Amino acid sequence: MLELLFLLLPLAVMYGWYIGFRYARHGIEKEESSRAQKIMSGVRFLLANKKLKASEVLVDLLHVDSENFDANLALAEVYRTRGDADKAVQIHTRLLNSSLPRIKLDLASYELAKDYIAVGLYDKAVELLEDLRYDDEIRIKAVKLMIKIHQKLGDWDFALDIIHRNESSLAEKYTCIYRAQFLCEKAKECQNLGKLPEAEVFLRKALRVDGHCSRAIIMLSSMLAEAGSYDEAFSFITQIPDYDPDIVMIALPVLKKCFRLPAENERYIEVLKVWIEKSDSSSLVLEMASVLEQYDLNRASDFILQNIKRKASLRIFERLMNYQIRSARDSDAKESLSMLQNLVSTEIAMHKTFVCRHCGFSSKTMFWNCPSCNEWNSVKPVKGLDGD
Ligand SMILES: [Zn+2]
Repeated sequence: MLELLFLLLPLAVMYGWYIGFRYARHGIEKEESSRAQKIMSGVRFLLANKKLKASEVLVDLLHVDSENFDANLALAEVYRTRGDADKAVQIHTRLLNSSLPRIKLDLASYELAKDYIAVGLYDKAVELLEDLRYDDEIRIKAVKLMIKIHQKLGDWDFALDIIHRNESSLAEKYTCIYRAQFLCEKAKECQNLGKLPEAEVFLRKALRVDGHCSRAIIMLSSMLAEAGSYDEAFSFITQIPDYDPDIVMIALPVLKKCFRLPAENERYIEVLKVWIEKSDSSSLVLEMASVLEQYDLNRASDFILQNIKRKASLRIFERLMNYQIRSARDSDAKESLSMLQNLVSTEIAMHKTFVCRHCGFSSKTMFWNCPSCNEWNSVKPVKGLDGD
């Protein structure tokens, strides 16, 4: 009898396996069915234009594991880009609460910091970013993002400190260009408070960091000229056509401050000639004509005619109209020319003076930091027929 029971044992094992398989299969089928139902309800919500409810259902379907980590990040980015940072926070927090490898957790933290920035929670973002030291690539990204945050808040000391602490890991763009610009911002703050010696210290420091920083050169030269140090002011501003010929339009009023005019008109004319050789700025041609005009209208008019052949520019053409009107004797000719000049003036007034070469943002005002893309030193005078 006992032997019979032993014979039945393999049969019992087989039956147990079959029951177990059925039970497991049933579990999988049940789970798949529930998943399909969730997808269907998500789609139904989407069709009914209930985006919030649809996203809740679909987010719930994304399991957190290493395999679909990128899908979670991508979905969160879509939410953040669409202005739904709360939903992105929810996804990133869920990733952080899971048992993912350290590098993926750091990446999720970095993305969560971006969500916080999107809703203006800068302190929370900085708190997360400061802890990202495990992977070097993520650490550098975090450092750059912290610099961006402090720049947005105008915390120049913090931004400068971060650059100083991470100097060896950051590109020259940060250690030279950004650092010099932040020092110029500090100088501007001092200027606004009437602390001119402190402003000068920051500007000289900016030039030690980035000797080609046009902004520091223009600001320092302007301050020195206003204080009566004309020669030193000139020694700085005269570098602009070599370092940044596209920006001479901005530097020109400062150059003018370096001369005691009209007593030094001749010297000023000689310098303008040199600048005109180095830059194709219409502003320089117009300035030269304005100085020549003080001596002789014909001399100024001839100079404009020579230059309009060299450079097609509406602004130079408008000045030519002006001289033609002033020298015309016939009243009908004067009237026709005036009408033409008005048309050209209206056309010039309609165009933007400055454009960001990084993002294309255009404006009538000069910005050292583009308000659209936040890039430094990318906004320049518009060139071409309707530009400088
Ligand atoms: Zn821009």
